Amino acid sequence: MHELSIAQSIADAAREQASLNGGRRVLRIGVRVGEISGVAADALEFCFGMTVRDTDLDGAVLELEPVPVRYRCASCRHEFHPVEFLADCPACGSTGASMVAGDELGLSFLELE
Ligand SMILES: [Zn+2]
Repeated sequence: MHELSIAQSIADAAREQASLNGGRRVLRIGVRVGEISGVAADALEFCFGMTVRDTDLDGAVLELEPVPVRYRCASCRHEFHPVEFLADCPACGSTGASMVAGDELGLSFLELE
């Protein structure tokens, strides 16, 4: 679905970082993909390959880092992975937990030549 535009913005961000670093060649691009970011990892890899083919980023390796959903309890600060998106804290039973990870999507690192 929208993986192509995401792949393009990842490529743009990588190019921008590379040019800020003297235009060095990009070897590896790390991307954090949240569990509920709505992005299919294999579709993103496929689209990225298409996007960078025959460009300055051709040959750069895309490394996807899956990020599981995590909730943090508002009462006891316990962090946990929710079951079926129920936000009940397994440590104290409080229902006031909020999501602190799992919906992110973005560059985590860039390895330059
Ligand atoms: Zn708690």
